[in-house]
Order: sequence, then structure tokens, then C-alpha cells
Amino acid sequence: MAGRMKKCPACSAYGLTDPCRVCGKKTASPHPARFSPEDHYGTYRRRLKRLAQLERREGS
Ligand SMILES: [Zn+2]
Repeated sequence: MAGRMKKCPACSAYGLTDPCRVCGKKTASPHPARFSPEDHYGTYRRRLKRLAQLERREGS
């Protein structure tokens, strides 16, 4: 499973490592919603779907 994408504030390089693999400075997550909106909606949708399945199972 891939880790969360990081962005280095010092050299603007994107990567998965902390510290930055380019310059060795501490990295931070870029703006989350802006970076991968599809992934966030996907997670939310899957959670809702699972919740609906559980409710249906309990209801019958
Ligand atoms: Zn860097």
C-alpha cells in the first residue's frame, strides 16, 4: 500500500520519503483535498456503502 504523498517545502519535490530524498529537509503533506480529490471521495463512498450494508443486515 502506497504511503501518503509528501511535498518538500524547501525544493518543491514530491516524494514518499521524510525527510526529502532530494535535499534532506523535512517534508510535509501538500493540501490534501487539492492533491487527490478522487481518492478522498472514493474512501468516503466506500465507507458509506459499508455503513449501508451493515444497516441493511441489522434491519432484516
Ligand atoms: Zn527537498
